[in-house]
Amino acid sequence: MNQEEIKSAFARIQRRNLIASSVGIGIPALILLVLRDSIFESPDGLLLLFAPAIATVAYVQLVNWRCPVCNAWLGRFFTVRECPDCRAILRD
Ligand SMILES: [Zn+2]
Repeated sequence: MNQEEIKSAFARIQRRNLIASSVGIGIPALILLVLRDSIFESPDGLLLLFAPAIATVAYVQLVNWRCPVCNAWLGRFFTVRECPDCRAILRD
């Protein structure tokens, strides 16, 4: 994998994070909009709101946020510039 391929692979990872985040916020927002107050009447309703958000965080943090070269976890910070493991430069 050359430098350009690493950078474009990392750009795809960032894009997936963005899409996943909008889905993770969008689905609960939509549920809230449709069900309105009735969602707060049962604990299951709240679960319905939080499950997509939790799934999104898990996906973004644990599955997607990995180095395109060595698959190491990139850490908590989305400002990362290089892989903490193999030192591949991920963006300019
Ligand atoms: Zn790496």
